[in-house]
Amino acid sequence: MAQLDKTFPTNDCAMCIVSPKLVEAGRHPNIDLIINSTIEEVKGTAGDFQVVIRKKSLYINPDKCTGCGVCAQQCPVESIDLFNERLAKCKATYVKYPQAVPLLFSINRDECIGCGICQGVCKAGAVEYEREDQVVELNVGAIVLAPGFDEFNPEQLKVYGYGEYKNVVTSIEFERILSASGPY
Ligand SMILES: Cc1cc2nc3c(=O)[nH]c(=O)nc-3n(C[C@H](O)[C@H](O)[C@H](O)COP(=O)(O)OP(=O)(O)OC[C@H]3O[C@@H](n4cnc5c(N)ncnc54)[C@H](O)[C@@H]3O)c2cc1C
Ligand code: SF4
Ligand code: SF4
Repeated sequence: MAQLDKTFPTNDCAMCIVSPKLVEAGRHPNIDLIINSTIEEVKGTAGDFQVVIRKKSLYINPDKCTGCGVCAQQCPVESIDLFNERLAKCKATYVKYPQAVPLLFSINRDECIGCGICQGVCKAGAVEYEREDQVVELNVGAIVLAPGFDEFNPEQLKVYGYGEYKNVVTSIEFERILSASGPY
């Protein structure tokens, strides 16, 4: 949803719809947002589940990061921006998109050259290159799965000239092309 530009049927800006809900969820006393994590194990039964969660390291301390973005401004590395469907570049220290909740930067260790600039410029002292994953266990009564779906990748079919002609794009690429905060 955050990637979409204007949405059917009201033609409202998608971020205008989703941002207040993200903020509301982010500050709700009964909601903990656990990002960049995987569920490793689920035990128990309805009413009493034990869920083992691996919080993957962001290499930035989430309790210290203010989301100021100075690390990304100074990072010399350009990597592929997946949020913009590979149509733009982002830095090796990045946030998924500017309105993300929680607004936490992370380091893409596959792209990072270890220059140390981000650690030097971060006034909050949040950059921790050696930060490790954290594994936590939660006791919960119910689990709601809402994994959505992935868009079809037309590269597999090699039809309509996708991948050959620059003006043959998928609808999610077109959403980013139209977006005021997109690559164009
Ligand atoms: C190009 C495009 C245009 C659209 N335009 C409109 C429109 O104009 N109007 C409209 O009403 N709808 C539109 N839709 C549809 C709408 O965006 C979707 O129906 C809606 O976003 C689905 O929401 P969701 O939360 O169910 O799933 P998603 O938005 O798909 O979210 C699911 C989330 O779960 C995560 N996830 C999946 N598996 C795992 C896992 N194993 N562990 C952790 N996380 C996981 C995914 O990364 C994702 O963040 C459009 C969709 C597309 C692709
Ligand atoms: S890591 Fe530091 S410089 Fe980067 S956004 Fe967070 S607080 Fe700002
Ligand atoms: S250490 Fe890595 S993430 Fe940080 S500024 Fe250098 S290349 Fe970018």
